[in-house]
Amino acid sequence: MLSGCADRAGITDRGRYGVDTSIASSSQDERVRYLVMHYTAVDDGASLALLTRGTASAHYLVSSAPPLINGKAVAQQLVPEDKRAWHAGISEWNGRSNLNDTSIGIEIVNPGFTESAAGKRWYPYAPEQVELVARLAEDIIRRYQIRPDNVVGHSDIAPLRKTDPGPLFPWAQLAERGIGAWPDKHVVDKYLAGRAPEADAPVANIQRALVKYGYSLPLHGKADEETIRVISAFQMHFRPANFSGRADAETEAIALALLEKYRA
Ligand SMILES: [Zn+2]
Repeated sequence: MLSGCADRAGITDRGRYGVDTSIASSSQDERVRYLVMHYTAVDDGASLALLTRGTASAHYLVSSAPPLINGKAVAQQLVPEDKRAWHAGISEWNGRSNLNDTSIGIEIVNPGFTESAAGKRWYPYAPEQVELVARLAEDIIRRYQIRPDNVVGHSDIAPLRKTDPGPLFPWAQLAERGIGAWPDKHVVDKYLAGRAPEADAPVANIQRALVKYGYSLPLHGKADEETIRVISAFQMHFRPANFSGRADAETEAIALALLEKYRA
């Protein structure tokens, strides 16, 4: 009788059987390995509807103006962290695919971009949103021990399909708080090696560096449409002032600095 085992530590009664949890294996880690940032591209009402009644979902939703309750900004949790949310879709990062299986997704209400004759116009995130995302991310990263290079944008893991969280997502600001990866400036300068930042760089070098860092792209040395899109996604994250997708010296130097820091 399991009910008679109350004096045995580590026995859990599961109704029709019991389990002994007194000895734990040393070989284990977290199922959650990635944190993925998104913008919703629609307003608060539409975001909530899409993420709760459609075929997409996310663990957390940060509204355009997060409410303060008891003096604290509040995010909406739509999916428990131990359940899979459907935010990443077909995705790849650093040799892994289908990141829905192994990630937490944060959706942030932001229009994304609008097209005009002058090109794409992007929309900044509100400081209150950034602060809430930072606190949420710090907590998730700490609890699951997520590596900095595994805090990514949707555009990093699905660069041919997605542009979120966009070039105005404050990756540099978050990295200063220990959230996500960022290259060290003096190491970028070392790899620039006196070249002008906008000087042409070999496409093959950048393809090789980006693949090694985690992006999925071909290694044929040609600046085809796919390569330009992936380089642009990388630039949007790490050099948002210019994300044309062109293979330039600064892009190569940033990629090499990231490899030195996170892939050594
Ligand atoms: Zn997304």
